[in-house]
Amino acid sequence: MRFGFLKPNMNPLFCVECGAEGKVYESLCEKCFLERHRLAEVPEFLDIEECKECGSFLIGSKWISVPMERAVEMLLDKVIAYEDLVDTHQYGVDYEPEDEKNIKIVVHCDMYVDEMRTEKDIHSKVRLKPSQCVTCTRRKSRYYEATLQIRADGRNLTDEEMEAVTKYVHKRVDSATDAFISEEEKMHGGWDFLLSSKTLGRNISKELASMYCAQDSSSAKLVGMKDGHEMYRVTYAVRLPQYKVGDVIDHHGKLYQIMGMATNISVKNIEDWSKHSFTPSELVGSSVVDCSRLQAVLLVETEDEMQIMDPDTMKTVTIKKPEGFHSEEEISIIKCEKGIFPAPSQKD
Ligand SMILES: [Zn+2]
Ligand SMILES: [Zn+2]
Repeated sequence: MRFGFLKPNMNPLFCVECGAEGKVYESLCEKCFLERHRLAEVPEFLDIEECKECGSFLIGSKWISVPMERAVEMLLDKVIAYEDLVDTHQYGVDYEPEDEKNIKIVVHCDMYVDEMRTEKDIHSKVRLKPSQCVTCTRRKSRYYEATLQIRADGRNLTDEEMEAVTKYVHKRVDSATDAFISEEEKMHGGWDFLLSSKTLGRNISKELASMYCAQDSSSAKLVGMKDGHEMYRVTYAVRLPQYKVGDVIDHHGKLYQIMGMATNISVKNIEDWSKHSFTPSELVGSSVVDCSRLQAVLLVETEDEMQIMDPDTMKTVTIKKPEGFHSEEEISIIKCEKGIFPAPSQKD
């Protein structure tokens, strides 16, 4: 029966239980009404599993990494039983630890039954039970779902790339819930990470691919059955391009210097310094050109040509003057099999 139906009425004006005069609820004065109703109940003991490795708590079916007080409140939200006639309720908790694992608590319930506000203190005891969470159990058994392979196309990763990639993967794993790196090692000029989560492996491989203009692919391997389901491990392969910023590449017979690598690759044609932009896949198959960078003396220049002295042979060479070229006594040149070209400055 809803209490709203039993609003205090003026007739009778006394409690059928004790005879007290005044407002009545279900024909009872407030005191007798509260004696007859428990309104809120909390179990005598609140047992919570606590991971002895990482300190997280099992609430319902989930391991949660929160302070103990928060874990107790999350459990109380599930277990406090209110009578139906309680309209609104809130509570606060006082903690009196007996020792590390046993904490006496007083739950102060503040409730409204219609317009009657009432408070009730309920005593209970939190008992922390040592256990081990799923993540720590997996971590200890070197569990992994995904291998993240970082390689570079036709070359080893540079030390800087190695360091940046490792730092990034660690940062991503640390900020993800319940995830860990089971193992990591240098492998074939690159780096392998064994990760506890497929989803994280996939996300990180996508992120690295876009950061490094890399190609990414995945392949799954059946490793067994669990609870009637096929278990797969996935390898996510991230292949950084052969080229890096500053390299000269041959793309369909034209030479370009790599100026920048973000989502797309910005380049300059080293013959005329014209700017272009390619997607990583457009440059698949383009090779890095073996070239040397030298300083050369500028001898003569016309409107669109100039003569320089090849510092290797001391011979005069005529080269085209590119767009936006600023003449100086000594200029930077790129020398490769195809000839000598004025080097674009990496700054613009
Ligand atoms: Zn009474
Ligand atoms: Zn744990």
